[in-house]
Amino acid sequence: MKNFKIYILAACSMLFITCKENSVTEDQLSAENQKLELRSKDARLMSLGAEPRALANLNGRHVVLYKAEYLSSGEGEEIGREVYFNNRGNKQLSDDFVPGLSLDGSNNISYYVDNKRACADLPASTTENAIDRAMATWNGVDCSSLGMTKIPFNSTVSTGFVAALLGYPGSLNYTADLVHAGWLPGAFFDQLAPGGSNFILGVTFTIIFTDELGNPVDTDNNNKADVAFREIYYNDAFTWRDGGTYDVETVALHESGHGLSQAHFGSAFRSANNKLHFSPRAVMNAAYSGTQTKIEKTDLGGHCSNWASWPNR
Ligand SMILES: [Zn+2]
Repeated sequence: MKNFKIYILAACSMLFITCKENSVTEDQLSAENQKLELRSKDARLMSLGAEPRALANLNGRHVVLYKAEYLSSGEGEEIGREVYFNNRGNKQLSDDFVPGLSLDGSNNISYYVDNKRACADLPASTTENAIDRAMATWNGVDCSSLGMTKIPFNSTVSTGFVAALLGYPGSLNYTADLVHAGWLPGAFFDQLAPGGSNFILGVTFTIIFTDELGNPVDTDNNNKADVAFREIYYNDAFTWRDGGTYDVETVALHESGHGLSQAHFGSAFRSANNKLHFSPRAVMNAAYSGTQTKIEKTDLGGHCSNWASWPNR
């Protein structure tokens, strides 16, 4: 009789543990999903403000903030991800530039480096040179002819579409197809993800063309939303170096990859010494893993699939 009681008790305990473990796992999953939902919902509410449809009207064309892709520092558990600001329907289109649609009227890819949002750690000439090297690296890829042109810095020009949306000095104007808008305080990055100031190194925003109702347009019918322009920001809460951690050229090369329509690539894992690695290692990995100023094979594949036949797709 004594043995029987013990047996029942043991069975109950095992059942309890099993049920508890299952429920914890499900709770964790649903909490993670909620966190992601909240994250993009918060960002959407903050960005769209009072007028969710046509955020800006540029030369009679409607544009709206569509997506953010950020790069994490690789120091903690966070890995860079995408945040959508336009959640109509379940389907999130990818997005791409379209020949003939550029707001500067040229199929050449133009870029601009705004030195007015300067980095606290380095002279503007140093960061601009690092960004120029990153742009030249993408422009030098053999499979594409981007016709890349640089719009010279002009202190009377105001950039910062997303800065303006999120309460920082900025402008809804178009300046170039790809704008390196500069360095902003950590608080800006907290608006993209909870605690983002602590782990987001840089972010690329995609602004797309829409119809009058704010729906994405796909003029060339390639199932991709048509990009008006992109903006890149760097997090001034981190310490920046010209060749060292965190290296401006490395992060500029990654963000410019997004600027040229590439998504994240590669699986993250930690080695025995807890160091973050990616397989395969690529510029477009979602976290910083050391200085990387050369384009890897997978980056090249992604770039060439986007650009090999530009502008005649
Ligand atoms: Zn990224």
